[in-house]
Amino acid sequence: MGVYRISVIHGDGIGPEVNQQAVRLLVAIGERFGHQFSFHEYLAGGAAIDATGNPLPDETIAGVKDSDALLFGAIGGPKWESMPHHLKPEAGLLRLRSELGAFANLRPAVVYDELVDASTLKPEVVRGTDIMVVRELTGGIYFGQPRGIEGEGSERRGFNTMVYSVAEIERIARVGFETAMKRDKRLCSVDKANVLDVSQLWREVVIGLSKEYPEVRLSHMYVDNAAMQLVRNPTQFDVIVTGNIFGDILSDAASMLTGSIGMLASASIGGPIGFFEPIHGSAPDITGKGIANPLAAIASAGMLLRYGLGLNEEADTVETAIRAVLGDGLRTADMAAPGQTALSTVAMGDAVLARLDGK
Ligand code: NAD
Repeated sequence: MGVYRISVIHGDGIGPEVNQQAVRLLVAIGERFGHQFSFHEYLAGGAAIDATGNPLPDETIAGVKDSDALLFGAIGGPKWESMPHHLKPEAGLLRLRSELGAFANLRPAVVYDELVDASTLKPEVVRGTDIMVVRELTGGIYFGQPRGIEGEGSERRGFNTMVYSVAEIERIARVGFETAMKRDKRLCSVDKANVLDVSQLWREVVIGLSKEYPEVRLSHMYVDNAAMQLVRNPTQFDVIVTGNIFGDILSDAASMLTGSIGMLASASIGGPIGFFEPIHGSAPDITGKGIANPLAAIASAGMLLRYGLGLNEEADTVETAIRAVLGDGLRTADMAAPGQTALSTVAMGDAVLARLDGK
């Protein structure tokens, strides 16, 4: 039995609606497995701007840092879009990510058999897809120096720097190998080593580290080929590890294989506290209607258990319950076929809870 302090940021729009279902699930898991979870709510994003004028109040940072993991809903919405850049909800989210020092972003893309027709790709191509993209989050070309725009007229030039140190590559590659060890033990490192010096170093370091993980089958792929292979034959991948910009693009492409944004979870780890959230936003178009799909938030709670608290059996139970709900044909509006009855957010939460005992 463990005692865990979980911070919760519901956020804006459908954030609270879906996140409450994730909290209910964690409460139920705590009861079933004899863990003591305490939940502590903090403000961020638009809700924090309304209450305090600041998208990331100091109290939120302190509270989250004092916890074992963060369960995050979604932030943002039209109400705050005209705010100055540094006061927008998104500014709070970016700052929170950097405060937590999470350098590794884990994005699973799972095609459930029951939803195989929801993908834009042919069922025979995507069936069985179960990929984890491990993306470096705090380095590479998005943060490298020098960067800027300089000069005049037609000589004006814009530039960025793609840079990775051995230490940065090693720590993200290690997350890749460790993740592969928890799955099918296959790791594909994606780079552009045929053109980029930074990628040559990346590959060298990944190969060096592979000696520590003899059980993991390591392969390498150029990013252009990886993009092609993801849509051609996605089932060949287990874990993909890659740098910031390549991972940004490939993880979005991989998630679209599944065809349903309301199903997709993510984890940002590597710092002292892991950060777990759906990949979708606050969905202002459906806010307050009670129809949002809570499965991405619930799956994020599953990732919190596995990658935030190291509770693998508990996480397996959550994943099994999600599969059971889908297997029973239950759908929210975003997944329902024409004419099919759609469950409300709460009813879908109830359905997952009801299947927890089927573990
Ligand atoms: P979005 O993900 O909120 O919505 C895109 C579409 O997907 C909408 O039609 C929405 O109804 C649907 N959708 C999303 N989640 C769903 C769910 N759980 N169930 C059913 N349908 C769902 O993206 P957007 O419309 O581009 O952005 C809306 C707001 O969210 C913006 O303010 C944006 O900045 C913010 N945003 C926040 C995050 C975050 O908090 N991490 C991420 C992306 C966007």
